[in-house]
Amino acid sequence: MSSEKIVVCGAGGFIGGHLVSDLLRQGHRNIRAVDIKPFDEWFQRFPEVENLQLDLQGKQACQKALADSAIVYNLAADMGGMGFIENNKALCMLSVLINTHLLMAAREVGVKRYFYASSACVYNADKQKDPNVTALKESDAYPAMPEDGYGWEKLFSERMCRHFREDFGIQTRVARYHNVYGPHGTYEGGREKAPAAICRKVIEAKLSGKHEIEIWGDGHQTRSFMYIDDCLKGTQAILNSDILEPINLGSSEMVTINQLVDIVEEIAGIKLTRRYNLNAPKGVNGRNSDNTLIKQYLGWEPNIPLREGMRKTYEWIYKEMTA
Ligand code: NAD
Repeated sequence: MSSEKIVVCGAGGFIGGHLVSDLLRQGHRNIRAVDIKPFDEWFQRFPEVENLQLDLQGKQACQKALADSAIVYNLAADMGGMGFIENNKALCMLSVLINTHLLMAAREVGVKRYFYASSACVYNADKQKDPNVTALKESDAYPAMPEDGYGWEKLFSERMCRHFREDFGIQTRVARYHNVYGPHGTYEGGREKAPAAICRKVIEAKLSGKHEIEIWGDGHQTRSFMYIDDCLKGTQAILNSDILEPINLGSSEMVTINQLVDIVEEIAGIKLTRRYNLNAPKGVNGRNSDNTLIKQYLGWEPNIPLREGMRKTYEWIYKEMTA
């Protein structure tokens, strides 16, 4: 196992916490985990790694975070589900400071590899108007018309990674994540995403005996959801690959939000009356990941069945809520 220092930025968050755990499982020991949150708010924290609380929007904090490092995963961003990103566009755009200062620090240190977590929110909105969406391929990001705020920041930061590679030789790699879900993530408070929010609402209905659920939008919106284990595998494979352009990392198992609710109801063993809130933030009408490129490069695509991943997610949230 290489002894080079690996830095995980955003390690107190959902994906970052799982990534540190996975790196430890593989035998890596020289890990630095960084997040702005106080330690007691991290989803997962491991005493055997160096844990730092830093605001990575600042340049000096980024220099401190990346000192002596060889590998950097930038998973730090001020983000959340649709309810958060539609109402906090400026906050989302400020994450540009994180990636900018991390890239500058990475250049100073001369890191070997730099991973940036982009998003399917970079894709042109015109291609996502129909629930029967044609899966999004990488070239669909241009001409640019991404999700306002959050998506523009991601697209700009992708571009910055590209030019730091071309002009300064930093080996940047970029994945466009499509909806990642799993245990040890946000399920309440306003930043949660659809899979966790639906689990929480179904559990609330089950525990309270009030057999109703509010669904954002008309339930016909389509999406695909990637289980965290696929995300970790793909992230590390992309970091270690020669894939220079941003690439989709998402499941191609597309469902409607109604079908996602069906799955959670089945796991919970309950049937609920559905109320549709058409005024709630609901995002684009349809979105799915075209996995032609990732299959070509890696001979693999995210493949953990939604039902299986949702069961694990539901069980974790249920335990949290009844603890
Ligand atoms: P998360 O919110 O759970 O984790 C992000 C972490 O970044 C948080 O712990 C937060 O405290 C930290 N952070 C925010 N501002 C910071 C700052 N100034 N300094 C240091 N840390 C800071 O989100 P996640 O789901 O783990 O997402 C990780 C990355 O993947 C993000 O860049 C996100 O945009 C991207 N992404 C996630 C999804 C998804 O479905 N989860 C989809 C597309 C892209």
